[in-house]
Amino acid sequence: MTQNQGRHQQRQQKLKQQVDQRIEQAQQERGLLLVITGNGKGKSTSGFGTVARAVGHGFQCGVAQFIKGTWDNGERNLLEQHGVQFHVMATGFTWETQNKQADTHAAQLVWKECQRMLQDPNLDLVLLDEMTYMVTYGYIDLQQIVSALENRPSHQSVVITGRAAHRTLTDMADTVSEVKNIKHAFDSGLKARKGIDW
Ligand code: ATP
Ligand code: MG
Repeated sequence: MTQNQGRHQQRQQKLKQQVDQRIEQAQQERGLLLVITGNGKGKSTSGFGTVARAVGHGFQCGVAQFIKGTWDNGERNLLEQHGVQFHVMATGFTWETQNKQADTHAAQLVWKECQRMLQDPNLDLVLLDEMTYMVTYGYIDLQQIVSALENRPSHQSVVITGRAAHRTLTDMADTVSEVKNIKHAFDSGLKARKGIDW
């Protein structure tokens, strides 16, 4: 073994010991709150990937989608067949409708379903897709969201996605990831693509 290889092995050994120690120390077990935010592509796909993962283990999941495109979405087509409940805001993209009253009403209808899901002990995972905008636009009261999250069943995990997540949500979350935009096909004039973008 060369001196370099020896040093590498020593470093890896030390790293392994540290990781093993941290795994051993992680004793808490409860449902998690995850926030996936940022300007890059991959927030909703990460949320739906987590739902798919949970479904694969036989867990019960629910999804609320706060901003719906005019196209149908592949995740719903697949996951509904596996017993995942979906509650989708009845309007199109918020910035297209430009009607605050109608949007608030539509958001509130979905929020009622979210409150029900967040009290349902049968649900192991709830995805609140694009919920951050509801806070930004003031369609749903932040304090109501905080209280529903705090009072949810202890084993239930929640994923919230959307740009510019409110500080209150990231502060209370267990895991927060920010997806950074390096570049996006749309900037080169490429159309949103079925199976990739929806
Ligand atoms: P995805 O659903 O693909 O994971 P996302 O949830 O991270 O994307 P959103 O902000 O919810 O992103 O936007 C949804 C749509 O906008 C998708 O079609 C996505 O490809 C597109 N999009 C996401 N990020 C960007 C970006 N930086 N520039 C242009 N379009 C984007
Ligand atoms: Mg999204």
